[in-house]
Amino acid sequence: MSEIHGGCRCGAVRYTLALDALPRTYACHCRDCQTWSGSAFSQQSFLSESSLRVTGPLAVYELTTPSGSLSIQRMCAVCHARVYNSNSSRPGVLVVRAGTLDRSDELDVVAHIWVKRKQPWLELPTHVPAWRESAPVAELLQALAAG
Ligand SMILES: [Zn+2]
Ligand SMILES: [Zn+2]
Repeated sequence: MSEIHGGCRCGAVRYTLALDALPRTYACHCRDCQTWSGSAFSQQSFLSESSLRVTGPLAVYELTTPSGSLSIQRMCAVCHARVYNSNSSRPGVLVVRAGTLDRSDELDVVAHIWVKRKQPWLELPTHVPAWRESAPVAELLQALAAG
């Protein structure tokens, strides 16, 4: 098995994913992701917790979501770049911020969610599955697996 590498903006946090290929990613256009990323959408992928190895100082930010689950965000303690998060409603699953991957320029975005909040100037390709709001996790995983 080969490895995929990534890290934060300043380089203090580095990580390795035990994966043979780059993960497929999805974009979330919700208001929270726009605010949090400071951009038009967030881009991320699901991973199993066991595939990630991290080195460097992580800061943790926890918040309770409207549905009552606990979202645990990990960011570089030096430059505060958000690297990955988990949610108590999805044990063993991590969400990695796609832009922190070293090879982020090679990533495919294979699904879009919360497109009702999409910025109006952004045109999505018609062949990529999209949901007006959040996608059922099973459907999103299927889109990520099918590519
Ligand atoms: Zn950093
Ligand atoms: Zn979002």
